[in-house]
Amino acid sequence: MSSELLFTDRVVIITGAGGGLGRVYALEFAKRGAKVVVNDLGTSSSGEGNNAKAADKVVNEIKAAGGQAVANYDSVEDGEKIAQTALNAFGRIDIVINNAGILRDVSFGKMTDQDWDLVYRVHVKGAYKLTRACWNHMRDNKYGRIIMTSSAAGLYGNFGQANYSSMKLALVGLSNTLSQEGKARNINVNAIAPVAGSRMTESVMPPEILQMMKPEFVVPLVLYLCHESTTESGSIFEVGAGWVSKVRFQRSAGVHNGNITPESIRDSWSQIESFDNPQYPTNATESVSGILSAVNNKPTTG
Ligand code: NAD
Repeated sequence: MSSELLFTDRVVIITGAGGGLGRVYALEFAKRGAKVVVNDLGTSSSGEGNNAKAADKVVNEIKAAGGQAVANYDSVEDGEKIAQTALNAFGRIDIVINNAGILRDVSFGKMTDQDWDLVYRVHVKGAYKLTRACWNHMRDNKYGRIIMTSSAAGLYGNFGQANYSSMKLALVGLSNTLSQEGKARNINVNAIAPVAGSRMTESVMPPEILQMMKPEFVVPLVLYLCHESTTESGSIFEVGAGWVSKVRFQRSAGVHNGNITPESIRDSWSQIESFDNPQYPTNATESVSGILSAVNNKPTTG
């Protein structure tokens, strides 16, 4: 198992690849033989303005190192145009890294519709539009690898990020369902919650921590998940500083009561929240069948 994971002639689209995490993904995919579409609108962290220089710079870096890359400057909201850039330049699409992102952090009481809508449009609508534009090519080719970029803020919540955390958890839902829809066509879809020093985090992390959290530490997991030999799909990973962990949903064994009332809930609360015999449904069917078997197999209490 010592052979290098190569991406020779695989075509990868990376959004927001003009800086931060996206840039280092692009450089490493190219180094390992992939043909890279470097998408970046070149906005500020909060989504203002646009600048072609961000994507151009990374394309030049890749070409200078002997790799193959093409720039795309569209917003991820115009996913069809990004997919078309890949098809025009390289004729196929194998891998999509939905990475572009912005922040509009503000406490919920001060959040404007614009703060909500802009974060929705870049993270959720953008990932939807690009993935949708690539999906049927992947289905036809019976091959695809897709990454959705979530966040610890989405998985666990974070003060001042009601908009961002909502969108980041939405991407987990999208990843979970697409992994099931893509299974028969060899399309693997996974979600990552990275932590890395970038302009997005430089104001909230001290310099010594930022140094430990180099974006380069996130790259290996993304490449591993996108390799043709990897079968992992429908999973969530937290990754940063060289640390990688798989995340799953856990529920308690639960309590069934055919005469359920607010009082029966109160009286069985410690059992309801006991994780002594946890369950780990991996899809909605398993979730519902687990409930049905609990109902059928357990005597009604109360
Ligand atoms: P970054 O700000 O350095 O890079 C984001 C890039 O996305 C920028 O180059 C920006 O121009 C581009 N972009 C923004 N809107 C775009 C649009 N509409 N279309 C195309 N490109 C657009 O941020 P980063 O830290 O590298 O973050 C990358 C991803 O990882 C984001 O989705 C972010 O939410 C997520 N994330 C990062 C961290 C972290 O610790 N850095 C933590 C959790 C999640």
